[in-house]
Amino acid sequence: MNTRYIFVTGGVASSLGKGIVAASLAKLLQARGISVTIQKFDPYINIDPDTLNPYEHGECYVTSDGAVSDLDLGHYERFLGIETSQANNVTTGRIYQSVIDKERRGDYLGKTVQVIPHITDEIKRRMKLLGNSKKYDVVITEIGGTVGDIESFPYIESVRQLKWELGDDCLCIHLTYVPYLAASHELKTKPTQHSVKSLLQSGVQPDILVLRTEHNLSEDLRGKVGLFCNVAKNAVIQCVDASTIYEVPLLLHKEGLDAVVLRKLGIPNDWEPDMKEWISFLDRYKNPKKVVKVALVGKYVEIPDAYKSILESFVHAGVANDCKVDLRLIQSENLTAENVAEYLADMKGIMVAPGFGNRGIDGKIEAVRYARENNIPFFGICLGMQCAVIEFARNVLGYADANSTEMDSRSEHKVVDLMEDQKNISGMGGTMRLGAYPCEIKKGSLAEQVYGANAISERHRHRYEFNNDYLAEFEKNGMVASGFNPDTRLVEMVEIPSHRFFIASQFHPELQSTVLKPHPLFVAFVKAVAEL
Ligand code: GLN
Repeated sequence: MNTRYIFVTGGVASSLGKGIVAASLAKLLQARGISVTIQKFDPYINIDPDTLNPYEHGECYVTSDGAVSDLDLGHYERFLGIETSQANNVTTGRIYQSVIDKERRGDYLGKTVQVIPHITDEIKRRMKLLGNSKKYDVVITEIGGTVGDIESFPYIESVRQLKWELGDDCLCIHLTYVPYLAASHELKTKPTQHSVKSLLQSGVQPDILVLRTEHNLSEDLRGKVGLFCNVAKNAVIQCVDASTIYEVPLLLHKEGLDAVVLRKLGIPNDWEPDMKEWISFLDRYKNPKKVVKVALVGKYVEIPDAYKSILESFVHAGVANDCKVDLRLIQSENLTAENVAEYLADMKGIMVAPGFGNRGIDGKIEAVRYARENNIPFFGICLGMQCAVIEFARNVLGYADANSTEMDSRSEHKVVDLMEDQKNISGMGGTMRLGAYPCEIKKGSLAEQVYGANAISERHRHRYEFNNDYLAEFEKNGMVASGFNPDTRLVEMVEIPSHRFFIASQFHPELQSTVLKPHPLFVAFVKAVAEL
């Protein structure tokens, strides 16, 4: 069949959950045996979010081919259990970069290079790229931002052109918000009407409206929205607040979203989506046998989106253990040797989060020490592993000044250091060790038990590495390296065999945990915590 293209645009406000709606629709189509992928187009001018601070953008999600991308790609992978790639996230910066490169090469043959057609042609080319591979029946494209934004305009214009070119193989779903005015007990549709008007001004007629709401919408209200927006009532779908994002596919199915999509795209709707495993995940999620408190020690606690994939991995691993992980985000800047016991006293497990820079580093090291000395299950990720290494060097090996070059380039004991191939890099974006690398796991280690394998592949995003000059000394004193890059011998995992559960990875396991395939490291950590 022809590849079908679905565009998801947003109106009224940002943060309405376009990514979740797109991922939920994709899930429902996938569960009907349709092969589907999702991509995100972001209107900002950065090439990718690599240089963005988490306060701006939340987590940077890294794909296995090394793209630093929007956190919505994490939702896509977690919902669908498929891998995304460089091609699944495009920004205005990247679009302009390609066009300007072409211009410098002389590809435009003396023409004036303009937003229309050159920028829009490049947007359209990239919108169709995954579809051209013929691997997918349906490509869903989420357009970041809100219609009416100046920077979204070239994307909406490209959607208009593609709707025209692709005809029935293309549809536009517009997500809006229906606010509830408590004082007058009324749901208001005017913002939706205005938002659709704004789309219409750009020449795009939405085919389906998804209305985010905190209250159920009556038939009358849907009819009214449909009438004002030229959309049939059965294509006005409500998306009421859910207790978990993983419930959204089922709610949207109940509202008939997938059925309307199939009908409009001319795809036969002969059977129901097979959501058995998904439903059983939700049942277990809603009926935990136990609640366990785990500390996530990091410096971005005010913006949980900075740790999105970690939070979701704990949901998946909790369900796998039939328990709910009550994750407490603890500001590492507040932790000192004196108060760490007070902060972490009722925690059954401690995770030290990934991160960059000096702020809050001492508190993270104190948290590691507290976990190590009190035999509390510990799991460190990336900077969390580097902190575990620094802590061990300071407090067990006795190198009081031990540090990472990132934090103190003059330390005599750089137990975490820059590798030769990183030393001459001056640019900031896209220059870290990025993407999936193989890892060889040591026989007889905790890592081997956890993975049940000796060869794995995990994703990275960091510049600094364990300094192998110290490896023998660490191992002699009780911290062993249990994962290595088979080509470079870089240390990818460390553990303390005498401890109840103490493991840390230089890679980011949270990027590979999905609803139906929770990550073994998170599952094993939560299991150790639940058994305590
Ligand atoms: N800042 C550390 C490095 O660059 C760790 C990065 C991370 O935690 N993602 O190596």
